[in-house]
Amino acid sequence: MLLVGAGGLGSPAAFYLAAAGIGHLRLIDDDVVDRSNLQRQILHVEATIGTAKVDSAKERLAALNPRVRIEAIPERVTSANVEALLDGVDVVVDGSDNFPLRYLLNDACVKLAKPLVYGAVQRFEGQASVFDAGRHRGQCPCYRCLFPEPPPPQFAPSCAEAGVLGVLPGIVGLLQANEAIKLLLGIGQSLAGRLLQFDALSMRFREIRLPADPDCPVCAPGRPFPGYIDYARFCSSGG
Ligand SMILES: [Zn+2]
Repeated sequence: MLLVGAGGLGSPAAFYLAAAGIGHLRLIDDDVVDRSNLQRQILHVEATIGTAKVDSAKERLAALNPRVRIEAIPERVTSANVEALLDGVDVVVDGSDNFPLRYLLNDACVKLAKPLVYGAVQRFEGQASVFDAGRHRGQCPCYRCLFPEPPPPQFAPSCAEAGVLGVLPGIVGLLQANEAIKLLLGIGQSLAGRLLQFDALSMRFREIRLPADPDCPVCAPGRPFPGYIDYARFCSSGG
């Protein structure tokens, strides 16, 4: 399994995936542990502040379950390395916190036919889904079927800017771990084709049906892969 991000979503997801005995966890994040994030990034502790998040994560996960093989990669995901990162992986869990990375991961997962477990949080609201367009063209949507264009930067504040209730990524990250384990085992009904939204203030879950876009630039049936783009530029221009 590939887990992108050892932050607010990746922390709870990684804990439960390791506890469940996932055989091989590849963990990538280029950030370091910061005290201001510890209210939600529960993989990390005071003593690891300033060290690479993936190293801090590996230490904690290995202490929990030493039989899980953990590959800690302190790098940034780019168009150049994304395919190598996906190599041999059954399921991808997206714990990223920015739009360029979400689009890049989506495009790579469609191209290489890997299921992508999506989660996102902002302030008091979270959402989760499974994008499985690579394996089920025209039947399951991808991230771009949902959001063809990224929001303008002023409407897409980061967690650091907008703030987030600490337990919220915990809830969404566990929904992601749940979907990832189901996909690995081939059991149950995944969130593919459904967007699950959660409002922490009203404590309500809402589900939206998510059809595949027949004109999606990446996953439309029969459409050849358009190639990776400059995602930072794509997102900073708001499309
Ligand atoms: Zn699509």
